[in-house]
Order: sequence, then C-alpha cells, then structure tokens
Amino acid sequence: MKILVAVKRVIDYNVQIRVKEDGSGVHTDNVKMSTNPPDDNAVEEAVKLKESGKVKEVVAITIGEEKAQETVRKALAVGADRGIHVKADSYIEPLGVAKILKKVVEKEKPDMVFLGKQAIDDDCNQTGQMLAAMLNWPQGTFSSKVNLKDKVIEIVREIDEGLETIEINLPAVVTCDLRLNEPRYASLPNIMKAKKKPMEQMVAKDLGVDLTNRIQQLKVEEPPKRKGGIKVSSVAELVSKLKNEAKVI
Ligand code: AMP
Repeated sequence: MKILVAVKRVIDYNVQIRVKEDGSGVHTDNVKMSTNPPDDNAVEEAVKLKESGKVKEVVAITIGEEKAQETVRKALAVGADRGIHVKADSYIEPLGVAKILKKVVEKEKPDMVFLGKQAIDDDCNQTGQMLAAMLNWPQGTFSSKVNLKDKVIEIVREIDEGLETIEINLPAVVTCDLRLNEPRYASLPNIMKAKKKPMEQMVAKDLGVDLTNRIQQLKVEEPPKRKGGIKVSSVAELVSKLKNEAKVI
C-alpha cells in the first residue's frame, strides 16, 4: 500500500502575526515558517503505518515556492520515503491545490491520501474534502484515530457531538486532527539521510489544470484591541456594574 501525504509550509504557530501596514496581507519576510501542525500528524500516522508493515511507501508532497521543499525534507527526515515538490510562486487556493493533488494521485496511484484537517494560515478546511469529491473517493475527516484493515480503514472522527466511528473503503482521503498522535522529532542523522532521499520536482502551471484563484482578498486587518478588565471588590458591585454599566442583566 502507498500513502501520499500533503504537507503545507505556513507561518510557525508560535509567531506573533503582524499585519502589513497597507492591509494587503501579513508579514512573511524573516518570519519563521514550519509545517502546518496537523500535517505533521498526517506524516506521523503514515510513517507509523509503514513501520507496522501495513504500508510499503510514504510519499510527501508540497505545493509552494522553492523553500516549501523544507516541509518535504522534514517529512523525509521522520520517515517518508520520497518527496514531490510542485512549484508555485504565488498562493493557490484549496480548489487549485486539490486539482494539483488529483493530478498527482492519478500518476502515483496511492491507496490513501493523508492531509491535515486545516491549514492554520488560510483556515479553509477544504482541500481534503474537495480532493475526495474530485476523485470520487470516500473521505474520513478530522480523524483522531485510524485503524487500517485489509481494504477498509476505520476512523474515529471528532465531531460537535463527540466521537464518531466510521469505516470507509480504500482508496480514500483522510484528514488528520492534532489528537491523532504525537509527531516525532527528526534526529540529526535522519535529517542528514533525508537530504539523499529522492525529491521529484514539477511546476504547477505545467500540470494542465485551471489554477485561477476564485477568492479576492479585499483587506487584512488586526482584530480590535481588547479593553483591559477591572477588579470588583464585592458581588454586589459586580451585579451593579453588570446592571447599570454593561446593561447585560
Ligand atoms: P486547507 O483546506 O487550506 O485548510 O488545508 C487543509 C490541508 O490541505 C492542509 O493541512 C494540507 O495537508 C493540505 N494543503 C493545503 N494547501 C497545501 C499546499 N500548498 N501544499 C501541500 N498541502 C496543502
């Protein structure tokens, strides 16, 4: 069995995001970039399935600028076998990413595609679902537990009401939640070894799919600043303030 894992390069989740003065986006120059967190869980789960002997090959793919290759190298350093970098110089929306992934799926013929449940930069939560629809494959989204059987995969999904367990036929698209596992760290020797693992390069616009973005970003702005809180000395004062100042009771 083969798993294709999609990894996206995003601003590191610890970075304090700074909005550009002209409202055209956020600052990315000299900003630490990392793999989108749930994508690390997707890689970890694929590698664990390989280690269990149920999966033969794990292929990591990223779509983005030259430096996006770092996310693939990181996946290779924790156990993926080979990488694919689809070069794109500007942002591609989930629809375009899904179209590119579909093209690669047709070529690679994996049994499963693993993705993160959501990218922390655009917060779209769309790519996996769109890819499944385009491929006409079953999808298991927000997976917090997976159990790969013979030709099916059992998935525990995090939904509003709690946990839902489903079983879907392969080939399938699986999107991964942060609770799925604890991603491992890459050791220095493995980082060195990853440099020698194969990385195929493609150019997004040569893949013959329409990558025109459908969404126009009008403006990016900081959320309104929160006012500082106050301390009250008694319950009576609190009730009085809620009644007379905040007027909420
Ligand atoms: P989104 O639909 O943008 O929230 O992204 C969901 C998931 O799709 C991510 O967690 C990634 O696994 C995958 N994905 C989205 N964009 C890219 C990209 N440019 N390269 C690789 N994977 C991506």
